[in-house]
Amino acid sequence: MTSEDAALGRAGALLTIDLDAVAENWRRLSAQGTPAECGAVLKADGYGLGAAQVGQALAAAGARSFFVAHLEEGIALRAVLTEPRIVVLNGLLPTHAAEYSAHRLVPALNDPGEIAAWAAHAAALGTTLPGFVHLDSGMNRLGLAPEDQDRLASDPSALSGITPITWMTHLACAEETGNPMNRAQLQRFRQAVARLPPAPVSIANSSGIFLGPDFLGDLTRPGAALYGINPTPDRPNPMMGVVRLQARILQTRRVDTPMTVGYGAAHRVEGPGRIATIAVGYADGVLRASGDRGAVRIAGFTAPITGRISMDLITVDVTHIPEPLAVPGALAEIIGPDLPPERLAASAGTIGYEILTSLGRRYARHYVGGAL
Ligand SMILES: *Cc1c(COP(=O)(O)O)cnc(C)c1O
Repeated sequence: MTSEDAALGRAGALLTIDLDAVAENWRRLSAQGTPAECGAVLKADGYGLGAAQVGQALAAAGARSFFVAHLEEGIALRAVLTEPRIVVLNGLLPTHAAEYSAHRLVPALNDPGEIAAWAAHAAALGTTLPGFVHLDSGMNRLGLAPEDQDRLASDPSALSGITPITWMTHLACAEETGNPMNRAQLQRFRQAVARLPPAPVSIANSSGIFLGPDFLGDLTRPGAALYGINPTPDRPNPMMGVVRLQARILQTRRVDTPMTVGYGAAHRVEGPGRIATIAVGYADGVLRASGDRGAVRIAGFTAPITGRISMDLITVDVTHIPEPLAVPGALAEIIGPDLPPERLAASAGTIGYEILTSLGRRYARHYVGGAL
C-alpha cells in the first residue's frame, strides 16, 4: 500500500495541499512586494483549500494581515488565529457591528452608511475601532463612489472614532500588465487619498504586486498566487504548485468495434482502444464544460477526457497507455505538477480561481508541510 492509498482511505479521490508551498509563495510575494507588508486573502475557505489550515501556515510564516469576504468567514478564522488582523472585504453589516468588534474583525467600509455605522459603534463602545475604507477607483463593484469620496474629503469628521484607517482600492485588470486601466485606477486612487487624512494604503492583489513599485502601497492583498495560480499569465509562473488532485481508476473497458461513451452517447470511439472510468465528476469540481476537452495524467501519460462529465465519474481514453499502468485502483492525476489548475480551467472555458473554489467536499484531504 502506498502512502497515497493510505491517505485516500475510502474516498474516490485525494486532494493534497502543500502548506509549505503556500508559505513559500507568500515569502516570494513578500519579497516581490517589498517594502509593502504582504497580507493574505483567505476568502471562500482559502480559495477552497482550507482557510484555517492555510491561515495557520501563513501566520507561522509571518503573515500578520488576513482578508476574508464574509463576516462568517472572519469569525471562523478568528477562532484559529488570535493575533493577526482580519479584514472583512464585503463590508460592514451595520446591524452586526457588535460581532465585528467582539471578534476583533476590521470591516472594509464600502459606503458612507457603513462608515457612519462603524463610527457610531465606536462611540457607543466609548473606544476607537480600526477600519479599511474602500475607495472605488473604477471597478464599480464595491467601495465609495467618487462623489462620496469628495464628500468625505470635505468633511472627514465622518471618520471620527475610526482609527487606524487604511485606504484601499481594487484593480480591475491587474493581470494585464499593458492595460492602461491599471495606471488610470492608480492615479484616481492617489488623487483621492491625497485629499483625505494621511493613512496607509492597500492596492495590489496577486497580479498587482507584479505591476511595479507604484502599485505596492503599504499592504498587498494576494490571494490566487498563494495557491499557485500564475499572477503573470503572459510569463512563466513564479509560484510553486500547491494542489494535487488524484482520483482512482474504477474500471477499464476495451472498445473493439465503434461505440459511444457516456451520457447522451455524445462521444463515439472507433476502436480498437481502451477507456478508463475515474472516480471524479462535476460534483467534485471537474466542471461539466471540460467534457471531451480536458485531459488527465496517468503514470506520466496524458489521457484525454472522452464523452461527457458525469456527476461522479469521468471517462478517459487510455488506448496509448501500457495496459498494466492504467488498471482499476491506479491513480489518475486531475490537477498536479503537469496539470496546473489553469489547464483544467482552460478546458472548461474558465479561470484557475473557479477551479480551486469549485473543488468538492468529498475528497480525502491531505495536508502536507506547514506548522501543523
Ligand atoms: C479577492 C480579492 C483579492 C485577491 O485577489 P487575487 O487576484 O486572488 O490575488 C484582493 N483584494 C480584493 C478586494 C479581493 O476581492
